[in-house]
Amino acid sequence: MTLDLYRIPVKDVHGVKGKKPEELLALGISTVGELLDYYPFRYEDYTLRDLTEVKDGDKITVQGTIVGAPQLQMYGRVKSRLTCKMMVDKLFVTAVWFNRHYLKDQLKTGEDIVLTGKWDQKRLHLTVSESEFPGKGTSQIGTLQPVYSVAGAITQKWMRQTMKQALTQYGGMIAEVLPQELLDKYGLMARKQAVALLHMPGTMEEGLRARKRMVYEELFLFQLKMQAYRALNHDRADGIAHPLDLPGVRAFVRALPFTLTGSQKQVLAEILHDLQQPYCMNRLLQGDVGAGKTVVAAAALFAVVKAGYQGALMVPTEILAEQHKRSLERLFEPYGIQVALLTGSLTARQRREVLGALQMGLVDVAVGTHALIQEDVFFRSLGLVVTDEQHRFGVNQRSILRRKGMNPDVLTMTATPIPRTLAITAFGDMDVSTLRELPKGRKPIKTYAVTHDMLERVIGFIRREVEAGRQAYVICPLIEESEKLDVQNAIDVHAQIQFAFPQFHVGLLHGRMAAAEKDEIMREFSENRVQVLVSTTVIEVGVDVPNSTMMVVYDAHRFGLSQLHQLRGRVGRGEHQSYCVLIADPKNEVGKQRMKAMTDTNDGFEIARRDLELRGPGDFFGTKQSGLPDFRIADMVTDFEVMEQARDDAAGMVKQPEFWTGAGFGMLREFLRRENIFDSELLD
Ligand code: ADP
Ligand code: MG
Repeated sequence: MTLDLYRIPVKDVHGVKGKKPEELLALGISTVGELLDYYPFRYEDYTLRDLTEVKDGDKITVQGTIVGAPQLQMYGRVKSRLTCKMMVDKLFVTAVWFNRHYLKDQLKTGEDIVLTGKWDQKRLHLTVSESEFPGKGTSQIGTLQPVYSVAGAITQKWMRQTMKQALTQYGGMIAEVLPQELLDKYGLMARKQAVALLHMPGTMEEGLRARKRMVYEELFLFQLKMQAYRALNHDRADGIAHPLDLPGVRAFVRALPFTLTGSQKQVLAEILHDLQQPYCMNRLLQGDVGAGKTVVAAAALFAVVKAGYQGALMVPTEILAEQHKRSLERLFEPYGIQVALLTGSLTARQRREVLGALQMGLVDVAVGTHALIQEDVFFRSLGLVVTDEQHRFGVNQRSILRRKGMNPDVLTMTATPIPRTLAITAFGDMDVSTLRELPKGRKPIKTYAVTHDMLERVIGFIRREVEAGRQAYVICPLIEESEKLDVQNAIDVHAQIQFAFPQFHVGLLHGRMAAAEKDEIMREFSENRVQVLVSTTVIEVGVDVPNSTMMVVYDAHRFGLSQLHQLRGRVGRGEHQSYCVLIADPKNEVGKQRMKAMTDTNDGFEIARRDLELRGPGDFFGTKQSGLPDFRIADMVTDFEVMEQARDDAAGMVKQPEFWTGAGFGMLREFLRRENIFDSELLD
């Protein structure tokens, strides 16, 4: 047995004495193990930089020659401003020190000096935070120094020294926790090496590799806890074990007008497996726009209906409900499966009829909006609930619907790994299936960001597509919090476009129209009786008209990235080359970055990542309500994919019988024991 560093008090590290153990305790550190796990949150880069290559506002380290006499101004006894002219990379630079008057005598004309500070490009000022005179003390030049979160009497410098000391004394005893197979699988370095490099990386690259290893470890252990807990609690068999007719489902899939992608097949297999188990499925299906989630859901609904249960498909808008109802009807017709629509715009009588049919089991699949979950809706035997674009639904809405059935299985589909998705993944109460590939033959959508003065050319572009037999969407500016202005915009743009294309039918769609009107326009568009559809964002999610190849978005900088990506996903659904033109005059950096992200990539996962980055995770995680776990080193947003890998690895591991008994997993079981997984009922 290796020495357990988590049992050695931190005062055993040389130099940790007096009040220091107490101060460390305030940071949550009482043992050597905890000290070594106290990672820096960034590195200070003391590599020498070339002034011609740095940006305004950068924190940099440069070497220069003093070329003028220092000037000192005192404000009172301690406050001061010291300046000195320097020659750095052929530039005359003014170095500025605040409250370091004592440095004045050390600044000698003609001598070299290394300064670290914040660079002001305009004024050629460097506001110095650290100065190094050649030949004095230990040099930091060319190194990376860890920056820790410190407080009280614990200074950055002391922490760096103490960490170094702890590594010297105990670094060799750091034990591996991850099984070798996982290290090999991801090419991760040993824990011993990772901890050392994390605190003292030679290069940024080394620091990042060390971080990668520790991120994986942290997320893996987190997921292992979750998965072990699930495994130990899996006898709660209060769900439906659907008696599936698998050959029947296979025949249904074979009869589709296309072959499923490998991803779709795999995901469907995961769902079918879950449906047959006696516990409740709670699965998240995520895939980029156009990845083909709907048909997977359809096959799952088919399977459940064939097993004698009813299904429900809940979507955020009436247009979508209508569209899904039509496509499900088309798919299910040969099998005599009854599909009904339940939306807010049914007449009282229609509604009563649908409700009756649901309750008596005359309807097999109900498609609807929020109307599906009102109090008076009852199913005879609800076996599966699918929600599309789940971020439009609140968690409790889903649970209301769930309570109406006999613990139905739940499949949630989303095109964006949104924060709640992160949360759900993090808490592990959902299994995640991901469609990673798009159906074959899809050509990446060509995206252009243009300014408003190019409108003429954009209209010419639309004309070219429409004359070639294709269709186009034109999305109107979004005026926050004013549907009325949105509508007015749409009406104006519609008039403008119709004027430009007298020979084509230009449709108009907005939120103030009656549902029946909207449906009519959508039907006309999907049947190519309307060639150009001018719309507000009611169009946004899920609409599927494969002949449309052009998406034009006015004032694109006003839309969020995920929203733009969703909009773009309305085209590129057929075999024709598709285009997305974003008309925007972004005033700020975020707007510019959004346009850049859109033209850079077609990958929804990458878009979602950049979206979160631009909005700043603080927007989501800063608030208490998120309740997300605090990771020491992993980042919920940027490390999301690692989280998913870790989850799969952990889930696979607890399924192996050797995990619970084998010697190779002793460290991991020890970890679970420390986390009270074996005795506690509730996991925090
Ligand atoms: P999303 O994942 O965005 O909901 P959809 O389910 O609307 O995507 O599918 C997008 C389009 O791709 C639809 O027209 C659908 O019929 C088509 N599709 C789905 N799966 C395949 C496939 N395996 N091969 C070809 N086309 C497919
Ligand atoms: Mg969809």
